[in-house]
Amino acid sequence: TSFGFKEVREEEKSQLVGNVFSNVASNYDLMNDLMSGGLHRLWKDRLVSKLNPFPGMKHLDVAGGTGDVAFRILETINSVNCRSMQDVLEGNLREETQIYVCDINPNMLSVGKKRAQERGLGEDRSLVWVEGDAEALNFEDDSMDGYTVAFGIRNVTHIEKVLAEAYRVLRRGGRFLCLELSHVQVPVFKQLYDYYSFSVIPALGELVAGDRESYQYLVESIRRFPSQEKFASMIADSGFQRVDYENLVGGVVSIHSGLKF
Ligand code: SAM
Repeated sequence: TSFGFKEVREEEKSQLVGNVFSNVASNYDLMNDLMSGGLHRLWKDRLVSKLNPFPGMKHLDVAGGTGDVAFRILETINSVNCRSMQDVLEGNLREETQIYVCDINPNMLSVGKKRAQERGLGEDRSLVWVEGDAEALNFEDDSMDGYTVAFGIRNVTHIEKVLAEAYRVLRRGGRFLCLELSHVQVPVFKQLYDYYSFSVIPALGELVAGDRESYQYLVESIRRFPSQEKFASMIADSGFQRVDYENLVGGVVSIHSGLKF
């Protein structure tokens, strides 16, 4: 039956995604730099500047992997803290801040914990690493000021479940932000980009990570991901208001946002 077929496909998909990120965990950060020419750093900076983090916030970064987004949020907050002498004297704002990094893959989280130490954030009690599934979060309703997911929603089995969970855990006024590889709309640039992603990326994957298939899969998953407009309407259907998106590099990536009222 078509239902049976769908089930197998979904099981295969989660297994594939699991394999991809177990295989790539140790090469993940290098591959990101190589594939995006370092641009993913600027895209993540942009995501965090849209979030506008503040001391004392409770934030959840889903599919947080090796911590890139969480580190930026925490460093922004810490630099704000240091600027205000009163905050330093009161000394308690920093303690209250909680940035949760949630990821389904423990290998990615362990690489992240090591990187936190290298960045001098190893002892920072604001950073909390949690193994968990974006489709069934282990956090209470209305408990988060912010929610981010960067390059993570494309690989999940049910996007709607992830969005419903994001909406559930955010408190009123809380912001949802999603950074994801999206669809290029500029014709000539689109052809170049297609060539780059179908030819160069799998070759890079083979060369650097010894794993062509996983990177081929990642490229295909970009094609299958809903268009900017369609994804925006899915976010709105999940209950979010003021849904909007911003394309970067002509739509190579987009940042979708929404508010829970
Ligand atoms: N956000 C990080 C970044 O931008 O560098 C990591 C992005 S990485 C491309 C995608 C991450 O999604 C992987 O770490 C993977 O383990 C995680 N992931 C995949 N499916 C997930 C799920 N259902 N729940 C939570 N994390 C998931």
